[in-house]
Formats: sequence, C-alpha cells, structure tokens
Amino acid sequence: METLLTAIVTWLAVNFNLPAVYEHPRIELASAETMHAVRYRRPGATHAQPAARTVRPGQLPEVEALYDDATRTLYLPEEWTGRTPRELSVLVHEMVHHLQNAAGLRYECAQAREKPAYVAQSRWLELFGRTLGEEFGIDPMTVLVRTACMH
Ligand SMILES: [Zn+2]
Repeated sequence: METLLTAIVTWLAVNFNLPAVYEHPRIELASAETMHAVRYRRPGATHAQPAARTVRPGQLPEVEALYDDATRTLYLPEEWTGRTPRELSVLVHEMVHHLQNAAGLRYECAQAREKPAYVAQSRWLELFGRTLGEEFGIDPMTVLVRTACMH
C-alpha cells in the first residue's frame, strides 16, 4: 500500500502541480455506517459520492470514500481491493484531499477543494479508457455543481 501511495503522490505532483508530500495518510477500511458517522461528525471531511440519482428519499447518500483532515485518515469501503481502475480512482481522489490538507492549501470554498480531486480522478480513469460518467454516474454538470463556489 505504501508503494502505491508513493506512486500516486508522484503522479499527482507531476501532472497536477500538487505538493509532493510523502507522509502518507492512515488508511482504514470502514463500513458505510462508520464513514457516515465520521462524515457527519466532522463537517470538514471531504468525500467522493456517487451521483445524486442513486439517493432515495429519506436515505443518506452512499459515501464512496472519505478523508478526514483532523486525523489524516483515508477511509475506503470494506470491500475495497484496489484491483480496478474505478477503485484506484477513488483512492486518487482522496489522496488529492490528503495533499491539500498536508500542504495546508486554502480554497475559496469547500466545493473548490473538490475541483482538483475530480480532475485528477477523471484523468486517472481516462488512462484506462473510462470516465466518471460510466463508472460513477457523475456527468460533467454534476462535477460543475460540486466544484463551483455558490455566491
Ligand atoms: Zn472529494
């Protein structure tokens, strides 16, 4: 896992001008319940979610993965193996948040913090001929809404 994280940090630093911080986050495989608990306990935690259309009324949106700034812990689903481009792209997305946090980067709003994460995740999937739309049902409009500061 450490080698994989090092490779991802290098890829992010080279391609997206993100700081190359090699103090890796703590990785934890967690249940959906645990991730929800962490997410709602810490408003600062950032996350990748599937498209809103998968959310049924009265149900919390499924949290795909989560990075907790305060504890520098990256939560992945229990069933995560890292064997598919899709699963690795989730790790790539959360590693962007780790680098943002570790380097103390400041953004105009929480959504702006998501922008580089989605750009990197999308580019990663493209390496394997996939898209955010195919893998997660996240279309360009959804990305725009999630990454734009609302004034
Ligand atoms: Zn995110």
